[in-house]
Amino acid sequence: MRRRRKVKILATLGPASSDEAMIRKLFEAGADVFRINMSHASHELMRELVRRLRNVEKEVGRPIGILADLQGPKLRVGKFAEGKVDLVPGQIFTLDNNEALGDNTRVFLPHPEILEAVEAGHRLLIDDGKLALVAEASDGKSITCRVVSGTKISDKKGVSLPDTTLGVGALTEKDRRDLDAVLQEEVDWVALSFIQRPEDLAEVRKISRGRVALLSKIEKPQAVTRLAEIIELSDALMVARGDLGVEMPLEAVPGIQKQIIRACRRAGKPVVVATQMLESMITAPVPTRAEVSDVATAVFEGADAVMLSAESAAGDYPVEAVSTMARIAEEVERDPNYPGIIHAQRPEPNATGADAISLAARQIAETLNLSAIVTYTASGTTGLRAARERPLLPIIALSPVVETARKLSLVWGLHCVVTEDATDLDDMVDRACHIAYQEEFGNPGDRIIISAGVPLRTPGSTNMLRIAYIGSDGLTGI
Ligand code: PGA
Ligand code: MN
Repeated sequence: MRRRRKVKILATLGPASSDEAMIRKLFEAGADVFRINMSHASHELMRELVRRLRNVEKEVGRPIGILADLQGPKLRVGKFAEGKVDLVPGQIFTLDNNEALGDNTRVFLPHPEILEAVEAGHRLLIDDGKLALVAEASDGKSITCRVVSGTKISDKKGVSLPDTTLGVGALTEKDRRDLDAVLQEEVDWVALSFIQRPEDLAEVRKISRGRVALLSKIEKPQAVTRLAEIIELSDALMVARGDLGVEMPLEAVPGIQKQIIRACRRAGKPVVVATQMLESMITAPVPTRAEVSDVATAVFEGADAVMLSAESAAGDYPVEAVSTMARIAEEVERDPNYPGIIHAQRPEPNATGADAISLAARQIAETLNLSAIVTYTASGTTGLRAARERPLLPIIALSPVVETARKLSLVWGLHCVVTEDATDLDDMVDRACHIAYQEEFGNPGDRIIISAGVPLRTPGSTNMLRIAYIGSDGLTGI
């Protein structure tokens, strides 16, 4: 079973998509990786979802990526005596450390670190920016604000602080507990929300000790400022347009999306475009023209994956949302302008064996019109470098490590297959040809190109290219 597209689809699970039959339908419609949102899932539910996903993986016989998304320091105000209050632009409204229920002059802010960090002049955006406040004074115990725009605030609304760098790391107490629980399960990726600086990743690395790959969600202006360093320390990034569009002017988001995707493609780190991609499909079976265009833009930019949030988690049409995304991607990738647009941003190879081989493999394969590039990758590094070349023909990533295959299912263009290490060169060629045939990438007589490291099983040794014919029995290579 193979996909007919390069870009991957990441679908968020939720009440609309929790049972095994629905997960399977989403996979069959095109979802390659599934997101479990730890803001909403209990540990028990997370474990259950992982179990169901691994059952589906076994049934369909394809590696499935699982991403657990940690909530991060998502800040919220406390509660009000009457649930909500009306405010008037121009009035004073205070956030403080008093646990008493709020009224139309004040509310509790259960985050002492913010009370400390906000300074006069900083903006506080509440409820996705529907209420905007500006701090006039702050004494560490309360922040006196003026209402700039908006007229309502209610219990537990989120607070964004675009101007404030918080002293806290990216992990809250809840995140630490969630991370511990996630690390016990067969989860491939952990997403970190609201990271602000490269140091935020260090703590998570220390706890996770390589057991899971780290995806940094870029949703704060501070993270955009330090993008290069964050990319360096991350295994993947997400353009988290939901919160980014609250913390930055909305009109800045498309440019930042391009900037992040280009920087990630240069670095060879997978990048996901997320949020509101097919938003109207939460309640309608067809998307708007603007949404189709938005998904198409991300595909033309060469993003590794496009994500569905509420569309698949809580919408009325989760399967249709996935299949719509798949159809848009396939059409874009068939567009005569697609190769030129993708290749205009192709990065130069680094001076390494893996990059030189990946470049050569693509050139040979395109020149000879081969059926597929097959790359042996144990840790996944060679697979990532092969994808960085953005070749127009399929890439089959062979790995003896199931975790590598699952992790790489997020990556542009990689069709991952778990297979034992080759015993010798002949076995390596036979195996590659047989898998290419079996997975429907070529027929007897078609040619593929194989990259590998010799001696076999030596990490970081990618140094060999071999062109081979799929034999007439489909089992061997010549
Ligand atoms: P979220 O992240 O859905 O967890 O908020 C994505 C975003 O902010 O765009
Ligand atoms: Mn977010």
